[in-house]
Amino acid sequence: MECIFCKILSGDTPANIIYKDEKVIAFDDIFPKSPVHKLIIPKKHIATLNDVTEYDSDLISHMLFVAKTLAAKYEIAESGYRIVINCNPDGGQVVYHLHLHLMGGKTLNCKAH
Ligand code: AMP
Ligand code: ZN
Repeated sequence: MECIFCKILSGDTPANIIYKDEKVIAFDDIFPKSPVHKLIIPKKHIATLNDVTEYDSDLISHMLFVAKTLAAKYEIAESGYRIVINCNPDGGQVVYHLHLHLMGGKTLNCKAH
């Protein structure tokens, strides 16, 4: 098993896990790019957003729901935050286990528009 996030899920690699339920876990990004930088990942190994099927739509919406719940918990809901999913090399994806970045706690630059 080579996937670093699967290793976090199995406990083989340490992480500061801040949330878990039957479908997802969330933990601190090891190289935070903002004061709050959490990663939300499905327990199921899905390599990229391209690999999501219609059967995963509940899972994807659940990941977003967890993100907004954590945004409130870490007190960035009102100040604002950004949710990012990088896909494949041009999208900047480095870890090939689907994950959602939750970033906030400062004014973020590099708006995607
Ligand atoms: P991405 O570029 O979207 O694939 O982002 C991968 C993210 O995973 C980066 O922000 C890394 O800092 C983060 N990361 C990589 N390894 C770990 C780890 N062992 N624990 C926590 N975060 C990690
Ligand atoms: Zn994995």
